[in-house]
Amino acid sequence: MTSPVSSPGSFRGSSGRPRIVVVGAGFAGYQTARNLSRTLRGRAEIVLLNPTDYFLYLPLLPQVAAGVLEPRRVTVSLPGTLRGVRLVLGEANRVDLDGRAVHYTDPEGTTGELAYDRLVLAVGSVSKLLPIPGVAEHATGFRGLPEALYLRDHITRQVELAASGGNPADCTARCTFVVVGAGYTGTELAAHGKMYTDALVRRHPAWPRHLRPRWLLLDVADRVLPGLSEKLSRTADEVLRARGVEVRMKTSVKESTHEGVLLDDGEFVDTRSLIWCVGVRPDPLVSELGLPVEKGRLVVTPQLGVPGHPDVFACGDAAAVPDLTRPGEFTAMTAQHASRQGKVAARNVAASLGLGTAVPYKHNDLGFAVDLGGVKAAANPLGVSLSGPVAGAVTRGYHLAAMPGNRVRVAADWLLEAALPRQAVQLGLLRSWQVPLDTASPELARTPAGPGKE
Ligand SMILES: Cc1cc2nc3c(=O)[nH]c(=O)nc-3n(C[C@H](O)[C@H](O)[C@H](O)COP(=O)(O)OP(=O)(O)OC[C@H]3O[C@@H](n4cnc5c(N)ncnc54)[C@H](O)[C@@H]3O)c2cc1C
Repeated sequence: MTSPVSSPGSFRGSSGRPRIVVVGAGFAGYQTARNLSRTLRGRAEIVLLNPTDYFLYLPLLPQVAAGVLEPRRVTVSLPGTLRGVRLVLGEANRVDLDGRAVHYTDPEGTTGELAYDRLVLAVGSVSKLLPIPGVAEHATGFRGLPEALYLRDHITRQVELAASGGNPADCTARCTFVVVGAGYTGTELAAHGKMYTDALVRRHPAWPRHLRPRWLLLDVADRVLPGLSEKLSRTADEVLRARGVEVRMKTSVKESTHEGVLLDDGEFVDTRSLIWCVGVRPDPLVSELGLPVEKGRLVVTPQLGVPGHPDVFACGDAAAVPDLTRPGEFTAMTAQHASRQGKVAARNVAASLGLGTAVPYKHNDLGFAVDLGGVKAAANPLGVSLSGPVAGAVTRGYHLAAMPGNRVRVAADWLLEAALPRQAVQLGLLRSWQVPLDTASPELARTPAGPGKE
């Protein structure tokens, strides 16, 4: 690879090299930046714009909420692991496609602008809202580290307040947790959450026998993990029920109030905890581009290019990528697709600069792994259905292999969890108003000065 990288009519950064701006450092953006750096070896300036200085390994977030993993374990430092990539801390708020520039705001509220020769949009997704009265006010989403930390503290606090006595109806409500959405996020959260609250209760010798933590998992679908295979679904269902989670399928929430939730079958459940895992929608930055979208995701070619804009690429949850293994469909919003699309985006961006050839994105699912806490999991690597401890080992091994860093620390936390009682304290650093459900920035806690500002 000896030819210089060229780009007709290009902007040239201060280094005199073309500049590639990658927006978003999740599964897709992280892999794009990493592979671009390896391929281009300094021939282009690679700038990564992200509101945090870490990549967040979202699939392990339920374990943060349940106190199994410390929050920093599921983060991977961007400056520490991405050589040859310049991190710009900030959130893109506008893309000027004609002027080839991204406008952003940094964590302290200062605005900036990044000119680009090539742009990769990998901004991911945020919690999906449904027009159900009271949900935006009373539910907590589960899309970022602030929400996981808030929930860990909130759950711990509810059990401790119930343990300190008071009105029995209040104690029952505090010990009742309603999770809406039985996809992998809601299923894992309910499975881990029940184990966590049972462990919390065991620490209180005078805990009233009649008061058991109650977890409800609701979904409008007729089975848990509706998007995955029936075998996985059955395994997860059995584990959840054996653990005492009330699995209520074909059921949803009609209204949420401060006192609890009204289900659509007419039952009113007294609770202080409504956890919203009904799915995700693409980051709002995408819809504001004025380009064609499919269910909110930016329409791209199989080569991940944005039609009519040869200098713009998109991948991950934010992009509607044609699924070449299932003609007529788009790839699912999964980490597996996002990280592989990031690699293809890097290759095709390099090709657009004259290095190598572009390829279409095509990937057959390698299976799914759903961690259900303890040694339990449901997995189907390469289509082979597994359950019990074998699935648990495969699932944890898969996560360690898939994480781009911090593996030893995660494995150490898992070993400690197996050997010691869970360290359950609530630090109380985040309050519910700091993690609103209706947010375009789940990765940042809200502050009085505005989202993410000090
Ligand atoms: C709790 C949970 C568990 C999950 N478990 C699994 C699982 O087990 N298996 C699986 O395959 N998938 C799982 N997923 C889905 C998977 O995590 C997503 O499909 C994947 O993260 C998508 O990758 P992405 O790069 O498109 O987006 P993300 O990983 O969400 O990354 C987007 C990045 O863009 C940044 N960003 C957003 N807006 C802006 C902006 N305006 N400017 C700059 N940066 C911005 C964000 O901060 C973030 O760093 C899970 C998701 C959740 C929430």
